[in-house]
Amino acid sequence: MERYSRQLLVLGIETQRKLKDLKVTVVGCGALGSTLTELLARLGVGHIRVIDADIVELSNLHRTHLFTEKDIGKPKAIVCKERAKEINNEIEVDTITDIIDENNVESLIEGSDYVFDALDNLYFRLLLNDACVKHSIPLIYGGVMSEYSSVKLILPKKNACLSCFLNYEGDEENVCETIGTLDTVVTITASIQVQLMLNHIRGIEDNYLYYIDVKNMRFDKINIERNEKCQACSLHEFKFLHGKEQKPNCGIIRIDNKILKNEFSIEKRNNELIICYSNGKCFKKVSR
Ligand SMILES: [Zn+2]
Repeated sequence: MERYSRQLLVLGIETQRKLKDLKVTVVGCGALGSTLTELLARLGVGHIRVIDADIVELSNLHRTHLFTEKDIGKPKAIVCKERAKEINNEIEVDTITDIIDENNVESLIEGSDYVFDALDNLYFRLLLNDACVKHSIPLIYGGVMSEYSSVKLILPKKNACLSCFLNYEGDEENVCETIGTLDTVVTITASIQVQLMLNHIRGIEDNYLYYIDVKNMRFDKINIERNEKCQACSLHEFKFLHGKEQKPNCGIIRIDNKILKNEFSIEKRNNELIICYSNGKCFKKVSR
């Protein structure tokens, strides 16, 4: 307990024990996900699952303080695990080098006490939201754009979910737009996400959407009511889980493994990266 001695003075032994017993899933291990993983590992969350199919690139380093130049070309999920274990070897970390889709998302989050949304695409966020609402798993949303971000603890069927207030139009230009950001806003966003989890395990059911504007130093809390016509938490249509929405053709996409090497490999083809893992799964990453 020496490791947590200063933290125990704030949280107390009961909360620390709860943290040790927690099973948390971090979906996406880019800027937000790697920062979340670090915070969760330092806190002493007993089991962390990290899901990401991407690899570390030079252009990630300005906003991901968990990754270094030595990590370029390595799978993000594996680097997140290695770094988390270096920080705290008393916890368990498992990695899934895959993307979520309507077939795997429910089994990937099964048994989680909390799911952290560290994704960068609205389609996948709403898919994850569908799965968490369906299985009544608390979801902690974090979305970063430029020098702004928003954060919300989603308690399925108790407070507003993402589908209550976010609309997906399937518009490629909007969904696939590359948006710049800064590590400063990423770090504060991940910190608020983890604090919402810490508060929740201590009995605080926070219903606000937090809006952070670091440039103008604004921190707003917005009360969002549940939407009676929400397709996820009210009508239980779960359109994303049922594959009824158009998938975006950008970012990282699973492709058929024609190479059949069954080993980790990266191949560059024009503006595309082909990433294959030893589990036989291959992905195409399109640079735009
Ligand atoms: Zn809803």
